[in-house]
Amino acid sequence: MNSAALRIGIIGGGLGGLGAAVALHQAGFAVEVYEQAPELTQIGGGINMGPNAARVLRRLGLGPGLDREGVRPIGTHQRRWQDGRTLQKAALNPQCEALYGAPHITIHRADLLSVIAAGLPSERVHLGHRLVGFADNGATIEAWFENGARIACDVLVGADGIHSAVRAGLFGEEAPRFAGCVAYRGLVPVERIADLGLELGNQSWVGPGAHLVHYPVSRGRLLNFVGWTEHDTWNREDWTDHATIARALAAFEGWHPQIRRIIAAADTCFIWALFDRDPLARWSVGRATLLGDACHPMYPFMGQGAAQAIEDGAALTACLLARSGEPAASLKRYEQLRLPRVTRLQELSRANKTRFHMLDGPAQQARDAEWARTGDRSPDALRWLYAHDPSALESATA
Ligand SMILES: Cc1cc2nc3c(=O)[nH]c(=O)nc-3n(C[C@H](O)[C@H](O)[C@H](O)COP(=O)(O)OP(=O)(O)OC[C@H]3O[C@@H](n4cnc5c(N)ncnc54)[C@H](O)[C@@H]3O)c2cc1C
Repeated sequence: MNSAALRIGIIGGGLGGLGAAVALHQAGFAVEVYEQAPELTQIGGGINMGPNAARVLRRLGLGPGLDREGVRPIGTHQRRWQDGRTLQKAALNPQCEALYGAPHITIHRADLLSVIAAGLPSERVHLGHRLVGFADNGATIEAWFENGARIACDVLVGADGIHSAVRAGLFGEEAPRFAGCVAYRGLVPVERIADLGLELGNQSWVGPGAHLVHYPVSRGRLLNFVGWTEHDTWNREDWTDHATIARALAAFEGWHPQIRRIIAAADTCFIWALFDRDPLARWSVGRATLLGDACHPMYPFMGQGAAQAIEDGAALTACLLARSGEPAASLKRYEQLRLPRVTRLQELSRANKTRFHMLDGPAQQARDAEWARTGDRSPDALRWLYAHDPSALESATA
């Protein structure tokens, strides 16, 4: 079977599903995306695209869209919560381009989704299709949707997020765990905070039981902030909700005046509970597999969840191209290539929750000294992460 003949059904039109669809479509596969929502949307404001993901998107011809909509932050600056003292500082652009062949980008999620969606003929995306079941009969997979539609495909890819129905169908139902953190997320028009004289860059502030990051999006017109605080329980079924600015300010009481100015300048603010799952031992069964948050949700404390979903799409495409006559073997190969790398990132992201939220005291001082010594957020220190080529089937994966 050649690539053109292989029919690939992707469940979920998020950043991961659409990224994979563009890669598979360009490689000549007959790909169709099924998204439950009536339109393509993203919840929340901004996102970081490290050079590892930006390079994959550029190879798909999406560079002009990224350049148009994204911002190239000049650097990343980690600071102490109360007095703003620098803990570490590193240049991002243009260094990332020189080191890794692509910039580090910050971008509004809706803009990123539009840039990726533009790489796919719109008739390949089927909105209002919520998957409710599927069956693998060995030769093909049948899938059916809440709206009554039924499809047959050769490969089914679950890119349907942390509550994945495909994952539940393959490995059983299991509710994700509350991760003990909630985020206050907001967007601020930059003219309201012009007096702060912020550089066009990323800043992250760490303190006892909380941290806050901010960076520019929307061609530099808006500043995106996400402030994380720890909580024992989360009772809401719904993930996102409006929070008052007063509540967000109360969560960052006593923090540096810059933080409080930024929060206070937002019109509105969303609150978001973080959920988690343990790493899976496998992602693929027969002709079905998983991608992105459906198989490896991670705390966003390495800024790599969507980036890894985009890498998944590139790796999946390379594996299917290499052995398109043997879909099940290709999916196994894909999972073997990807699992060690994303598991490492899941672990590092979890460890960062502890490292970012230390109480002031000897452990925090040791951490600060280590950061000052190693500069662990610099592009140089992250070579293993940023230089990785997910399409290179024989390369080391972690
Ligand atoms: C506050 C925060 C900050 C973050 N920052 C970063 C960052 O800076 N960099 C980064 O790389 N990552 C970041 N992440 C992580 C990133 O957002 C996620 O890893 C990424 O969006 C996952 O993409 P996905 O396509 O796998 O899943 P999702 O975005 O969840 O998409 C799944 C899609 O599937 C659809 N769907 C679900 N069920 C069905 C069904 N039954 N049938 C049909 N469709 C269905 C959904 O509607 C949705 O469109 C952050 C996350 C958070 C919460």
